[in-house]
Amino acid sequence: MPELPEVETIKNQIAPHLPLKVKSVAYSDVSGSLIKDKEFSPKGKELTGIERQGKVLLFKFGPELITISGLGMSGGWRVSPTKVKEKHTHVQLSCEKENGEKIFLAYVDPRRFGNLHFFKPEGAAKWLTRLGADVSKPEFTPQYIYERCQKHPGKVIKAFLLEQNHFAGVGNYMASEICAHAGVLPDRLNSTITNEDAKKLWQATQIVLEGTVSTGGTTFSGGYKDTTGSQGEGVKNLVVFYQEVCRLCDRTKVIKTILKGRGTYHCPRCQK
Ligand SMILES: [Zn+2]
Repeated sequence: MPELPEVETIKNQIAPHLPLKVKSVAYSDVSGSLIKDKEFSPKGKELTGIERQGKVLLFKFGPELITISGLGMSGGWRVSPTKVKEKHTHVQLSCEKENGEKIFLAYVDPRRFGNLHFFKPEGAAKWLTRLGADVSKPEFTPQYIYERCQKHPGKVIKAFLLEQNHFAGVGNYMASEICAHAGVLPDRLNSTITNEDAKKLWQATQIVLEGTVSTGGTTFSGGYKDTTGSQGEGVKNLVVFYQEVCRLCDRTKVIKTILKGRGTYHCPRCQK
């Protein structure tokens, strides 16, 4: 499932190709279920920039029009010099680079839990207010974590980290890994998170991002692939998620639990 590191990787792979002139757009028969808003068509427009906020990609068409792309469980973008013929390709932009080279930008999503929004400025701004601080950006601080926990004392920390309106970008594997590196048990109530814990959670987030962004993201059963169709290497840096033995202490069996419906992994020795 694409989380912040995977989405960042996709963004970094698309960015060098910009700007792109969109010559035509092809939609699959079922693309309607993915396209939630269509305030404009990218056909004939110029794709000038790409950004990431949390787990969503923002494709900028000039200063005003924005396409927001949420990747859901299994969505991803492909960049290819030839038409993408991969199964489950739902939207494909035929584009031209500044030097006249042809290039194809395709949204592929086998399970179709992703979503696409073609927004005018107002729609995009409104939609983006649903996201909390992006955990890779300066707005995410130890103080921010502490304050959010204080405001929601009855929630449990690992599940709370998954809430995009608080911590944009964190997904299931990241949340387990952040708690592990911070030495915090995943089922701790937010009310027990001290200032010191908040600092550790912040530092842990930096460690997790460093180990996964630099390696092109991770790969799980959700089937994440980058824009070249390759799977990430970040899985090698995981310390508890999908692990038998904790890789922080190298001796304790990792415990798997289901927390708020999501598989959660922790080390009973390293986490308190
Ligand atoms: Zn351990």
